[in-house]
Amino acid sequence: MARATLIDGKAFAAGLRGRIGALAAAFAQVTGRRPGLAVVLVGEDPASQVYVGAKARACEEAGIASFEHRLSAGTSEAELLALIERLNRDDAVDGILVQMPLPGGLDEQAVIAAISPDKDVDGFHVINAGRLSVGQPGFVPCTPLGCIMLLKDRLGDLSGLEAVVIGRSNIVGKPMAQLLVEANATVTVAHSRTRNLAEVVRRADIVVAAVGRPEMVRADWIKPGASVIDVGINRLPPEEGKEKGRLVGDVAFAEVSAVAGAITPVPGGVGPMTIAVLLRNTLVAAHGHAGLELPEDI
Ligand code: NAD
Repeated sequence: MARATLIDGKAFAAGLRGRIGALAAAFAQVTGRRPGLAVVLVGEDPASQVYVGAKARACEEAGIASFEHRLSAGTSEAELLALIERLNRDDAVDGILVQMPLPGGLDEQAVIAAISPDKDVDGFHVINAGRLSVGQPGFVPCTPLGCIMLLKDRLGDLSGLEAVVIGRSNIVGKPMAQLLVEANATVTVAHSRTRNLAEVVRRADIVVAAVGRPEMVRADWIKPGASVIDVGINRLPPEEGKEKGRLVGDVAFAEVSAVAGAITPVPGGVGPMTIAVLLRNTLVAAHGHAGLELPEDI
């Protein structure tokens, strides 16, 4: 039986991080400072702590200065907004990332709106969302930008291909659909109210699953040869005698691999791309702040 090619996001991300490291070093030589990313974590959510730690390590490895701000869960919105204001004015900070979700009582939209759009390396600010929707340059959310990089690397020109994005969140589904439209694909956005989801997905040359439901996408939903990008990260309940459950995506990997042409694994697919693109966006922001052109398009 034919098996899908594995789209190795981990290897692609490692290559991207290598290029970013070289460009960050060149930037530091010219400007006398490293690109800088401020990461703000409010509260003690364990998953968020892991993400923030991973982002800080990845920055250091790529020669990007990371400034961590860990605030207690009881931090008021006024305190958080005041910190963002300070970071907006700080010339050592090129990018500001506020780790979501925020503890209850803090208004995520107000916090995102407070970040200066030229430091919004997550691409969540409405100015950057607007730029993406009208096709102007701006910061694009890291996960969908990482997905489109993998797709272009695998397929080259996406013109005229049928793409189905499952999920319509502001951080993944919607920007993913816009990037695919920009790349001249014919795009359908499916979501929780979509009727006959399997039938909709079956016409796709490209499937991007960003739902948060373990192994929802089955083999008989997939057109033979399609490229499947699995954004989902879901932890299954632990098996007998194990402390932690397995991580799986939104796609039933084993069975879909027998039908698809190419597929991202979970872990090791989209996940590593998200952090690499965060570093890329920070490098782009730093060049913008220094009035420098990026020497190559990454
Ligand atoms: P979300 O909860 O904001 O959005 C989920 C979307 O799925 C919604 O738009 C909803 O309409 C749709 N949906 C829900 N049930 C559905 C169903 N039965 N059929 C079709 N559509 C359905 O989630 P999100 O933030 O977009 O994240 C989605 C998944 O991607 C999660 O598993 C998350 O952990 C993962 N994620 C991974 C990365 C990464 O770096 N790999 C980054 C962000 C999110």
